[in-house]
Amino acid sequence: MAAATRVLARGFATAPVVGPTPRPRSPISQRPRAPAHRGAPPSVPTRCLPLQGNRRTVAVLGAAGGIGQPLSLLFKLSPLVQNLNLYDIVNVPGVAADLSHICTPAQVKGFDKDNLANALKGADVVVIPAGMPRKPGMTRDDLFNTNASIVKSLAEAVAKHAPKNAMVLIISNPVNSTVPIVAETLKKAGVYDPRRVFGVTTLDVTRARTFVAELKGLDVNALNVPVIGGHAGHTIVPLLSQNNAGATFTQQETEALFKRIQFGGDEVVAAKAGAGSATLSMAYAGAQFAYSVLRAINGEWGVTECTFVESKVHPDVPFFSSKVTLGLEGVEQIHGIGKVSAFEEKAINDMIPELKKSIEKGIAFTKA
Ligand code: NAD
Repeated sequence: MAAATRVLARGFATAPVVGPTPRPRSPISQRPRAPAHRGAPPSVPTRCLPLQGNRRTVAVLGAAGGIGQPLSLLFKLSPLVQNLNLYDIVNVPGVAADLSHICTPAQVKGFDKDNLANALKGADVVVIPAGMPRKPGMTRDDLFNTNASIVKSLAEAVAKHAPKNAMVLIISNPVNSTVPIVAETLKKAGVYDPRRVFGVTTLDVTRARTFVAELKGLDVNALNVPVIGGHAGHTIVPLLSQNNAGATFTQQETEALFKRIQFGGDEVVAAKAGAGSATLSMAYAGAQFAYSVLRAINGEWGVTECTFVESKVHPDVPFFSSKVTLGLEGVEQIHGIGKVSAFEEKAINDMIPELKKSIEKGIAFTKA
């Protein structure tokens, strides 16, 4: 597969995603590192135990929904969480009462539609799965009309009531537009920090790991497959050539895996036959990403995830998902695309116009 890989042309960052050589750094990554990281050798990550002192406050906005409920359950089970603030416009008292009986230390509180400000107070991490899910035949972009205003109003509340250093994790679709909406809304309010706003694309990585492991008989726990670009259909680009197990794929396997990873969400939407989209796998993926953010803000060194952030990795789009190292302040280093196969290079080039359009749609909505 190495022979089949080559470096993308035209301004793409070409550094390897991992490895000891210095990488070109984005403006974000050029900010000085927090003192706690200085001198930590790359090969010896500092692992912080989830002790009482660094358990955090997590707010879930949309906590009574199909994703919100299992996601909140996973936070209730996590030793990284001290306070779990659940907000929704419906049904939140029941969800909060139910979860609060679980014998783990996280303190659960429910906040109804009049109490968003209190739900956000003191939050270290704000996770947003609020909004309508897809029904069969719908694209994520079909959700724009409903979800854009929900996400915008929640971002306005975050700007007003959440601590300035809160990390904002956006699950609501279309992520390719809702992340720019949150960024622009926070910008308008004068509190935008690009290091702290993330589109959650972890489900794409989760699917890639599962499908590749199944196909190749690999240990899924040890397998990683970066997925870059955006979070909708063809904008999802799995970098199969960068899988860490060294697995290789025929052209037929590559095409089938691309299709399944890009449209895995449709598989679930069709199987649920009108009852929604991925909720349980999304809750798992959202929790994994949030745990990574929590571990990084607790000082663990070298936590890396693929996520959709403000980025200069691709010259034609201001937001892009690629591997990102997380730190005390959120985004610490955005990694380049690295070496990709000819198939992957074409997939990236082909999807950029669609991704650009979705990003611009989000920005235009917020500016209107
Ligand atoms: P759902 O309808 O089951 O739940 C959504 C919840 O949001 C409901 O409880 C609803 O009351 C609440 N809500 C609506 N408006 C709100 C507001 N203004 N403030 C707070 N809460 C509000 O939907 P779901 O299946 O949980 O999906 C939620 C979102 O996540 C959808 O937009 C879906 O497309 C998206 N999603 C994202 C991914 C991803 O990979 N990022 C994967 C699957 C689904």
